[in-house]
Amino acid sequence: MNKTTRRKFIGYGAAALSMPLVPSCATEEKKEAVRPIVVSTWNFGVAANSEAWKILSTGGRALDAVEKGVQVPEGDPTESSVGLGGLPDREGRVTLDACIMDEHANCGAVACLEHIVHPISVARKVMEETQHVMLVGEGALQFALEQGFEKQNLLTPESEAAWKEWLKTSEYKPVANIENHDTIGMVAMDAEGNLSGACTTSGMAYKLRGRVGDSPIIGAGLYVDNEIGAATSTGVGEEVIKMVGSHLVVELMRQGRSPQQACKEAVGRIVKRYGEKSKDIQVGFLAISKQGEYGAYALQMGFTYAVKSNNIDNELLDSASHYDL
Ligand code: ASP
Repeated sequence: MNKTTRRKFIGYGAAALSMPLVPSCATEEKKEAVRPIVVSTWNFGVAANSEAWKILSTGGRALDAVEKGVQVPEGDPTESSVGLGGLPDREGRVTLDACIMDEHANCGAVACLEHIVHPISVARKVMEETQHVMLVGEGALQFALEQGFEKQNLLTPESEAAWKEWLKTSEYKPVANIENHDTIGMVAMDAEGNLSGACTTSGMAYKLRGRVGDSPIIGAGLYVDNEIGAATSTGVGEEVIKMVGSHLVVELMRQGRSPQQACKEAVGRIVKRYGEKSKDIQVGFLAISKQGEYGAYALQMGFTYAVKSNNIDNELLDSASHYDL
């Protein structure tokens, strides 16, 4: 984290700030959506957005943009929480989770996939080439190889060294915003007004073998409804699964909340459930609406996200959060 220096703090008024620019005399019906637009989680979202923008700015489809966008951190060996170079489970295996969803509610996912650098593209193949939504483990790997993906070692010397260090204590205690987790979730709307999303991660570092988080689970780590908006999540996946978080955010937008209000309300459910104990958990949501508004909200400070549209120059923003310290 903190590799990118340019960053702005966006407080509770983010949704208002990101409202489409319309003349004051415009009526509700004449409001034009801001599009295309792409948003993605964490600092690596800036580079991912740039890649996605190449497609969105030339009239391409949001689905292609989100796939290509999240491939950037997937392929970057210096990012220790996604794809190549991801921190392994406690047995030293890098196991990847990813999902993708398009404007028609088509979706595909892979979980606990090993040896493939771009799980997001395998997820897309699951969506497009099979009658299923999710493949896991050995079956997912077999499918990927059949589809022509190359098998490779994803454990970099740096991640291996970190794992060996961890083994000395073997204490599993994910700490909010410390670099032993972080997912890239990206949601976008293209020039046609169609929405898509992608979410990909190596999951919680030093997790139990076979552990799957929220990121590959449609409705938890990612959800797209082409009439309403799209949302994605990061943080402790177990908590997001319990509340079907991204689906909840989209449903709250359906009820009239702005993206940020919806993200805030979803985070509020975790606070309500755990009270003081929620201080030890990090969960962040990021969403866009069909109107091109965007917003985010996290439990703890430190969650960043990147936004790019015709009006916004790929800015890295600090999410508002429930706890300030
Ligand atoms: N949500 C991911 C998981 O639980 C990790 C993260 O985003 O930090 O696997």
